[in-house]
Amino acid sequence: MAGYKVIADWHTHTRYSDGRGTVEDNVRAAAEKGLTEIAITDHGPKGIFIGVKSAETYLDIKKDIEALKERYPVRVLLGAEANVTGLNGEIDIAPEISKEMDILLVGLHPQAVAETWRENLGWMLPNFLGRVNQTLKKRMRNANTKALLNAMYNHPINVVTHPGLMMDVDLDEIAGASAATGCAVEINTGHAYNKDEVIKAALRWAAPLAVNSDAHYPDTVGEVDKGVELLLKWDVPVNQVLNAVPVSARQEVHPSDIIRNVH
Ligand SMILES: [Zn+2]
Ligand SMILES: [Zn+2]
Repeated sequence: MAGYKVIADWHTHTRYSDGRGTVEDNVRAAAEKGLTEIAITDHGPKGIFIGVKSAETYLDIKKDIEALKERYPVRVLLGAEANVTGLNGEIDIAPEISKEMDILLVGLHPQAVAETWRENLGWMLPNFLGRVNQTLKKRMRNANTKALLNAMYNHPINVVTHPGLMMDVDLDEIAGASAATGCAVEINTGHAYNKDEVIKAALRWAAPLAVNSDAHYPDTVGEVDKGVELLLKWDVPVNQVLNAVPVSARQEVHPSDIIRNVH
């Protein structure tokens, strides 16, 4: 198959959450890497030590983005990487905030504070501490899958981040929901986990994919080559990767035009 190029990085963090750079640092890095588009997606406020101070922080990020307008040849999207905070698919970004955003990412993180004490003790804590035995492992996998599926069906999510990292899920269930909702499954090049299994599940269900850096430093913005290598290894069709174009295509394509219409 022909090669392809990732032209948007839809998952980057700044010092508003647990990243090191400013919004401008990430945008400048994206411009230097030749990306067409970047999303600033700081962690939701319920992530302990990793989240933004409060949901209103996203409005400050929006101001930063507006101040940068036209200064770099890159389209800048306001987004968030929301946490799933309940088994019914609750997330830590309210609709009145997410409606200000261009893109919404959601991921399972065991550092998140759940909605109830019961969920904190019976769900988040065992995930955080790691799996101690097979029964608990299976129970957590079922709970994690249920929570993420409910989030995917209940919120206007564009991308599910790093499924299977830190919190185990049934990848076929997630890929099936992705195909049904149009929410992309992420291939995250910033973390080590079994991405081959994610791609294989996405292929079985024809689920849309997105390759992102999850950069926490400006230097790693747009560093997605390892993800592209994997997609080529598994012969993933280019039209299944929402933020990529065939290498021969013109660069003015704005991939978020594709995803923003899915819900
Ligand atoms: Zn994450
Ligand atoms: Zn992230």
